[in-house]
Amino acid sequence: MERLRVIKASGQSPLAPCDRCQATGCPWDRIGTNPICPDCQELLAAGEAEPLVERLVAQECTICNKPGAVPYLTFPLHARDPMAIDLCPSHFHALLGRRLDRYSYRILCRQLQEVGLSPKHIFLLHEAFYDERGHPLQPVQEA
Ligand SMILES: [Zn+2]
Ligand SMILES: [Zn+2]
Repeated sequence: MERLRVIKASGQSPLAPCDRCQATGCPWDRIGTNPICPDCQELLAAGEAEPLVERLVAQECTICNKPGAVPYLTFPLHARDPMAIDLCPSHFHALLGRRLDRYSYRILCRQLQEVGLSPKHIFLLHEAFYDERGHPLQPVQEA
């Protein structure tokens, strides 16, 4: 089953400024409809920013199959169209906090491979954040 979906013609302007700090320069991830830059994501993951209130969408979590996913889009490196990664709130926060467990990391990697991508293409799965076996290297510390 395909859980990672490329969203064509999403109507999203890839270079919209960050909803929280107005930073521009890269296609930021979308949480709900809001572009959120990596710095603001890190504050969120650390619990230092105003928490997100997003209504869950009727999709199952890619990792644990629980119904109800955070509406999350990411722009893979060099991609023109964003990709939806359906994650339940707890797995979404683990992704944002760069502290997915190895099992979850591997599931995501496998799904990425199925659509021709690797974790290198996804900022939050960057090789600086996990080693090749999926061990978190730089988890965001919660405040
Ligand atoms: Zn920001
Ligand atoms: Zn989950």
